[in-house]
Amino acid sequence: MESENIECVSVSDGMVEEEEVAHIPHPFLKPRGNGSGTVSGGGGGGVGGGGVPAPVISPVARVHELLECPVCTNSMYPPIHQCHNGHTLCSTCKSRVHNRCPTCRQELGDIRCLALEKVAESLELPCRYLSLGCPEIFPYYSKLKHEAQCSFRPYNCPYAGSECSVVGDIPFLVAHLRDDHKVDMHIGSTFNHRYVKSNPREVENATWMLTVFHCFGQYFCLHFEAFQLGMAPVYMAFLRFMGDENEARCYSYSLEVGSNGRKLMWEGIPRSIRDSHRKVRDSHDGLIIQRNMALFFSGGDRKELKLRVTGRIWKEQQTLDAGVSTPNPCS
Ligand SMILES: [Zn+2]
Ligand SMILES: [Zn+2]
Ligand SMILES: [Zn+2]
Ligand SMILES: [Zn+2]
Repeated sequence: MESENIECVSVSDGMVEEEEVAHIPHPFLKPRGNGSGTVSGGGGGGVGGGGVPAPVISPVARVHELLECPVCTNSMYPPIHQCHNGHTLCSTCKSRVHNRCPTCRQELGDIRCLALEKVAESLELPCRYLSLGCPEIFPYYSKLKHEAQCSFRPYNCPYAGSECSVVGDIPFLVAHLRDDHKVDMHIGSTFNHRYVKSNPREVENATWMLTVFHCFGQYFCLHFEAFQLGMAPVYMAFLRFMGDENEARCYSYSLEVGSNGRKLMWEGIPRSIRDSHRKVRDSHDGLIIQRNMALFFSGGDRKELKLRVTGRIWKEQQTLDAGVSTPNPCS
């Protein structure tokens, strides 16, 4: 049982939540530079927009400009409105301008611009994540729906306990976790971590520094935290996969904690970082340890948390029965 492979160097630093919470320097709220694979957070990154001078303006690009709301510059979707003089604006802006056309200041009325709505219907546009590798082209009105689900869309930073707004692809986020959040990086598929906290009875919520594991050419985030589950204070450890859910299903992991001949074990499938840290926690999809049990496992006088969590990540040979009919993404 004492397989001390990859004894974690950071074993005793048991970062406490005070440090974690206070320790959220935010010099990196935005993706730095124009690094590859990063996309700015919100905004309607329009195709053909963005100040790049196009030598030849295609008719599609011109039409697309027409579909940009002159007030908020987002793409317009039905109902598209216009004033008596023909100035168009989106329905969100219409509800904000107190019945005055923002362009000519005339009374706005309630006129739909059906012609423009029809033109939009005839358009086919590339996914906005074209530059991140998505080759798909969509009718104007189904583009948004695809983009919300597009597998090339950037990921949110998986760091827990902060409002980090950095987004990007996996290599970019790995570098960001290492450089900006100072996260521990480990190579290998087994781990042996000790989580330490003095006065554990005084805190209801705590988040320990996450650890990133690199194995099978993939990255995994190990989370550990304390929270209140109903009336009971608990600790929870779980793994998230840095990638999409269909790929996460190719892996399994186990966690083990115990002492004095008792142990708790968990075997599960890592969740994709598409699922927020909070969502995973609230679904209880991980190893949950009651505080009294955790303190028992810590030994000593039960005044201090000293929990040794061991674990392993492995790759499944084939898809689980849930995906029998779909192509095997694990191979
Ligand atoms: Zn608008
Ligand atoms: Zn007008
Ligand atoms: Zn796409
Ligand atoms: Zn971050």
